[in-house]
Amino acid sequence: MAEFTMDLNDEQKEVRDWLHGFAADVIRPAAAEWDEREETPWPVIQEAAKLGIYSLDFYAQQFFDPSGLGIPMAMEELFWGDAGIALSIVGTGLAAVGVLANGTEEQIGTWIPQMYGDVNDVKVAAFCSSEPDAGSDVAAMRTRAVYDEAKDEWVLNGTKTWATNGGIANVHVVVASVDPALGSKGHASFIVPPNTPGLSQGQKFKKHGIRASHTAEVVLENVRIPGSCLLGGKDKLDERLARSREKAQKGGERVKNAAMATFEASRPAVGAMAVGTARAAYEEALEYAKTREQFGRPIIDNQGVAFQLADMRTSIDAARLLVWRASWMATTGKKFENAEGSMSKLFASETAKKVTAQAVQILGGNGFTREYPVERMHRDAAIYTIFEGTSEIQRLVIARTLSGMPIR
Ligand SMILES: Cc1cc2nc3c(=O)[nH]c(=O)nc-3n(C[C@H](O)[C@H](O)[C@H](O)COP(=O)(O)OP(=O)(O)OC[C@H]3O[C@@H](n4cnc5c(N)ncnc54)[C@H](O)[C@@H]3O)c2cc1C
Repeated sequence: MAEFTMDLNDEQKEVRDWLHGFAADVIRPAAAEWDEREETPWPVIQEAAKLGIYSLDFYAQQFFDPSGLGIPMAMEELFWGDAGIALSIVGTGLAAVGVLANGTEEQIGTWIPQMYGDVNDVKVAAFCSSEPDAGSDVAAMRTRAVYDEAKDEWVLNGTKTWATNGGIANVHVVVASVDPALGSKGHASFIVPPNTPGLSQGQKFKKHGIRASHTAEVVLENVRIPGSCLLGGKDKLDERLARSREKAQKGGERVKNAAMATFEASRPAVGAMAVGTARAAYEEALEYAKTREQFGRPIIDNQGVAFQLADMRTSIDAARLLVWRASWMATTGKKFENAEGSMSKLFASETAKKVTAQAVQILGGNGFTREYPVERMHRDAAIYTIFEGTSEIQRLVIARTLSGMPIR
């Protein structure tokens, strides 16, 4: 088992520098344009695909890096470039992880390549869990999956919302209830293959930030998919449901929710995205403070400004430490006994919100305009305290874990 280290090895440094180069040379110069267009930046994704950055191989390599630092390091660099474009690049990876975590080898081999497409015809994938009435309260999910035994098909009905790449994805991973009486333990994940009749895009959202990332409703009307599209297969689902029913009958014994455990492990990755945005805004603010002069001296010559920068950098480094610790724990199979995954996401996302607001302040009037990137970074940072579990939900998870009490 890899010991926790903050020293990246030579190979990791090489990958980091390569990603930083892509973020600086390709992502950052395109950021303002795609933010204004509010569209998926296909040419940038294609460029990433050409270099091998948009590919399962690259994602898997970072995911299986034994030190646990591969994914956070990659996320930080890409999101340092621009959060909206970076989410368009890594959004498919989030859906792919859903298949990697729950799918059979055959499902992984069949569907993940179709999520990415190829260099000449890049595709994206979507992970659809949230619904209009089931955001933080995942158990309230209404989308139903009913098994048609005669045809060995599943029939999906419902409306998903806030799906990154929803409706434009080649492959959609959809979470649906197969047994509503079991709440979230009655959920299962399904692949909806390309061009399946009945799946359509609903409203596309106009957003406050990460506007280069497509976010939309996904409507499922009598969507029929082959039995083989149930991730993990029917036998495994039946076994899991039987266990949950038995435990429920025994009287409310708490069953570890697999989805919650997966979220706990994926949260450091979102924390790393937030660190990337925070670092980008801090660097802009530091540079500006050194060059902008008022009262005959650079504004950084005032403690009021310099101390803010000191606090910003301290928080960013602290956030990165929490993210790396949680990611190392997840990779090496250490149990999150104190909800360390949630801690990392909570602290890093709140840091990004605060640091980007401070950066706007340090740039003064310029920080409030779209001439300078901190304005966009500040808008983008707001997402981190919302998706993959809001800050309040992270606090709930941490408090419950620490206390063992069913805190509401
Ligand atoms: C840009 C974007 C992209 C997204 N991408 C995806 C995606 O790809 N796939 C997907 O499935 N989902 C996605 N989401 C959905 C996201 O995960 C949800 O928005 C999030 O989980 C919060 O749900 P909600 O918006 O319904 O807020 P709500 O759950 O309605 O929460 C509203 C407020 O109430 C608070 N609150 C709720 N319950 C409690 C409680 N028990 N205690 C204290 N406070 C509470 C929340 O913290 C929040 O402040 C995305 C969302 C956005 C905005």
